[in-house]
Amino acid sequence: MNKNSSNIMALAPNTSNKRETVCIFGTGDFGRALGHKLIQSGYPVVFGSRSTQTSSLIPKDAEVLSHAEAAQKAAIIIIAIQRQHYNFLTPLAEILHGKVLVDISNNLKINQYPESNAEYLAQLVPGAKVVKAFNTVSAWALQSGTLDASRQVFVCGDDMEAKQMVMDIVRALGLTPLDQGSLLAAQEIENYPLQLFPMWKFPILLSLGLIAFFFFYCLIRDVIYPYVYENKDYSFFIAISITNRICPISALILLALVYLPGVLAAIIQLYRGTKYRRFPDWLDKWMLCRKQLGLVALAFASLHVLYTLVIPIRSFVRWRISSQTVSQALNNKTEPLNTTNAWLSDSYVALGILGFFLFVLLGITSLPSVSNNVNWREFRFVQSKLGYLTLVLCTAHTLVYGGKWFLSPSSYRWYLPSAYMLSLIIPCTVLVIKFVLIFPCLDRPLTRIRQGWERNPQYPE
Ligand code: NAP
Repeated sequence: MNKNSSNIMALAPNTSNKRETVCIFGTGDFGRALGHKLIQSGYPVVFGSRSTQTSSLIPKDAEVLSHAEAAQKAAIIIIAIQRQHYNFLTPLAEILHGKVLVDISNNLKINQYPESNAEYLAQLVPGAKVVKAFNTVSAWALQSGTLDASRQVFVCGDDMEAKQMVMDIVRALGLTPLDQGSLLAAQEIENYPLQLFPMWKFPILLSLGLIAFFFFYCLIRDVIYPYVYENKDYSFFIAISITNRICPISALILLALVYLPGVLAAIIQLYRGTKYRRFPDWLDKWMLCRKQLGLVALAFASLHVLYTLVIPIRSFVRWRISSQTVSQALNNKTEPLNTTNAWLSDSYVALGILGFFLFVLLGITSLPSVSNNVNWREFRFVQSKLGYLTLVLCTAHTLVYGGKWFLSPSSYRWYLPSAYMLSLIIPCTVLVIKFVLIFPCLDRPLTRIRQGWERNPQYPE
């Protein structure tokens, strides 16, 4: 209901204006869906097709003519045909001279052809003004009206007037045109719908790697080792205990990896004495996916919270508590309260709760709807200052959890330290470097470098 009303509101102000006829070449899925939408928005539509016979699928208010006849009726022609069939346009070059040709095509693979489809179209019909648009909108979304996720339409072209005409149509359909510049941008626009979560690839592969590594690590230490030395079957640890170890470990390491590129960048800038030289590619890419790394880390932290909540109802835990109670009763000996342990355990839980709270806050502020409502300084404050505080709290949570066993020989099975000890390496490294970078002797030159100062200026004043 809301969707419909928002569409109507977007279209209403212009429906009284007389619209110019739009021609669509091709009566396939996309051509028909776009035709429907254009007619709804008040545009007369004429289809250019290989067959002039109309069918029930074609909007009934539209005319279906031959390509040449249809082209003569409109100044704008939308080419709703696959690129491999574009050759049929060459004989029509004279009729298409001076017309605006809208290329909406997509490919099956990224960079499938040396030139973009739109540039290829411009080569085939040199007298036409080619504009790239609509390729990021699907026929299904156009027809069903579910355009919320794909309301943006990237538009590019060399002729400003032609581009403006296409952007007016885009707006009249209730969509948002985004001018991407000249036709040179077409290749990038065509690659856009073919990308599969490009920024998520590295964080997800890294998380899978971490999960696999720590799963086998914990399996060796917590299941295979007791089986070999004590003949105890702890294979059921896989379901909750090991998972609840992998989740916080991955969360902590990934959170630290969000902040590691920042400190590496600071070291590089201090070393080079300038901010005007590009970072290595791997560092650039790493910095670009920090938000995704943080969100994956938050997902692991949330799972850790859920797994921790079920600990008291686990059969193994209930058995261990009851057997300890029974053994104290049998020996007629109660253990006095160890205040140090109580402090440690309460501090560990408190640090975890506070760390998770700030973690969630970081996740919420990274959402576009929230980040769009804070200014740059506020965003930096939350993501940088509160982010480091989250890292400090989560690292402290892990340190307090196992710090007292660091030197205990029982923590090393087959010389392997506990997994949580490994998880502390990267966070502690990041925090130590950050701490060092805060010293005025480094912070001052770094701030100056970031404000544009250069130790050895390339272009002396
Ligand atoms: P389609 O259903 O296969 O329709 C293509 C139309 O092209 C046919 O119906 C036919 O129309 C015409 N055609 C086929 N062979 C031809 C030839 N040899 N010579 C001249 N015309 C020929 O494809 P579509 O899904 O509508 O996609 C059309 C274009 O829109 C493609 O470039 C696609 O990449 C792009 N696109 C599609 C979508 C989508 O969701 N479908 C989304 C974004 C972009 P006539 O029979 O009327 O001649």
